[in-house]
Amino acid sequence: MEVRNRYVATRRHIEGAPTEADFEVREETARWTPDSGEVLVRNLYLSIDPYQLNRMKRSSASHLAVDGILPGQRIAAYAAGEVVASASPEYATGDVVAGVLGWEDYTLFRPSPAVLMSKVDATAGGGFPLSHHISVLGTSGMTAYGGLFEVCKPARGEKVFVSAASGSVGSLAGQFAKLAGCYVVGCAGTKAKVDLLKDKLGSDDAFNYKEEPDLKSALKRCFPEGIDIYFENVGGEMLEAALANMNLHGRVALSGVISEYTGGGRRAAPDLLEVIYKRITIRGFFAWDFLPRFAEFNAAIGEWVRQGKVQVLEDVSDGLESVASAFAALFSGQNVGKKLVKLA
Ligand code: NAP
Repeated sequence: MEVRNRYVATRRHIEGAPTEADFEVREETARWTPDSGEVLVRNLYLSIDPYQLNRMKRSSASHLAVDGILPGQRIAAYAAGEVVASASPEYATGDVVAGVLGWEDYTLFRPSPAVLMSKVDATAGGGFPLSHHISVLGTSGMTAYGGLFEVCKPARGEKVFVSAASGSVGSLAGQFAKLAGCYVVGCAGTKAKVDLLKDKLGSDDAFNYKEEPDLKSALKRCFPEGIDIYFENVGGEMLEAALANMNLHGRVALSGVISEYTGGGRRAAPDLLEVIYKRITIRGFFAWDFLPRFAEFNAAIGEWVRQGKVQVLEDVSDGLESVASAFAALFSGQNVGKKLVKLA
């Protein structure tokens, strides 16, 4: 079987904030044969994630646990799709899968333990919309759940600060912390997002970081008794300000530092004496760290969603051509919740 495959590629290495002009849509012929051992998937929803920018840099983050992306290359990405041809006994035509596919119409993969792929079972999946399997029941949910419950181990009544709190991971981390009985404050970059946090997502307080002349003072105002847990998505000055306001034995779940990805902002230079004196734990983690517990996490998250205790925010763009603008939107704060691209 042969299909015309359109895929998104970078035109060049990207060192600053990405723009649409950094990307192009290319075409190729994808060939599947019955003796290939491969599975051909027609992609339906693509996940748009900030970390991809670090793969697109010239240094291509060789020190990171993710592969770099060369200009012109296909871009592997989390996605959901339907199997249209299979030479593997594990998959049948018509199966719906979620896992590492790509920013493209079709992806060929060869099943192996090293390939992250799972079947979306309509029953076990709880009848959720397919998009949920790459948002709240995908890596965003795993990051928020693992970062909060495994890394920070919140206790009832603890004070939790979440940055990029209206985004995909942040909106879930804040809601999960509320469900754990914590006092939660989020920050975001517009008034509409701040209102959303307070009115819809149950945050006890929220502030627009772009309107605060001094982040340390803003956090002092929101947390007069100090912060116990910081769910960190932003980095730079935000991390410094949060650490300055943390309590003894505070925990920081280092999910991401998006303000540092584009190279324009300053890198965090936290006061390390503060970290020592307050015995603060700062732990970086990957969603994949929790892969063995994916089903367990999703059972808990899915139940909350089913009961209406967790609001799922999805921000969906249409068509492969919109991948570039959808990706750029992450770095200018134009998305609310999980940024996805829906293919026809
Ligand atoms: P997201 O939060 O849905 O989208 C990015 C948001 O970040 C934007 O909407 C924007 O919101 C905010 N932002 C962008 N540039 C900023 C800046 N310079 N300063 C402050 N805020 C900025 O994206 P996401 O997928 O949920 O990712 C959030 C963070 O989690 C990222 O750092 C990402 O790398 C990390 N992450 C980590 C893992 C992991 O395995 N560790 C997995 C997924 C994501 P505002 O309007 O509020 O500025």
